[in-house]
Amino acid sequence: MRSRFGGLPAYILSSLLILPGVGGMIGRGDARRYVEASATQIMKEQEDAIGISHFGQPEITFELSEAYRYNPAFRLSVAGAYDRRNDTIFISLSSAETPGHPIRNRVKRILRFGSSEDVSGVLQHELGHFYADKLCESLGDCHSVQTAVNEGIAEYFSRFDGSRGNWEYDPYYDLVRPVIERHGRDGIEYLLRNPPAGSGAIAYQNEALRALAK
Ligand SMILES: [Zn+2]
Repeated sequence: MRSRFGGLPAYILSSLLILPGVGGMIGRGDARRYVEASATQIMKEQEDAIGISHFGQPEITFELSEAYRYNPAFRLSVAGAYDRRNDTIFISLSSAETPGHPIRNRVKRILRFGSSEDVSGVLQHELGHFYADKLCESLGDCHSVQTAVNEGIAEYFSRFDGSRGNWEYDPYYDLVRPVIERHGRDGIEYLLRNPPAGSGAIAYQNEALRALAK
């Protein structure tokens, strides 16, 4: 059989497929133990730093749901996800780098062609989605959660401890940061109730800060 990659030597082709798989095996136990041991503590630190109270504990799973299990692109690229239908956080052990394991993390990063992430940041981000979802439910009138606001809140929860976070989320983070920094829980409530509707980021922030100062 000829494949579309017929021109590539077989060893290059096979390593392209096998290396991420091997990388994904490295340090899975470390990552899982880290998440299970630190989730409660991280939530407490988020509460103190951001000025919120979490709504109980989310479920945490390390197994991909049926819908994504056979999707190779998702398996390779998604480090974490939150499912609002059952308040469950998914953490990918394949892409997880664990704090305190620099050498293993580096090997994993190389084998996975850079597609790996610090698991503490991923967990912190997904806890932000959990909080926004539960706050929305408790408010009762913010069902359509807008992407920029939702990802901004989640990324704020990821960077509450001063960590760099994921640069791909910078625009969302920058959008919500001044509002949450100054107003904590009330700021988050405002963002969820009044998502941006086309105005520029600066105008939106100014309007939010004006409304919250009243
Ligand atoms: Zn997110």
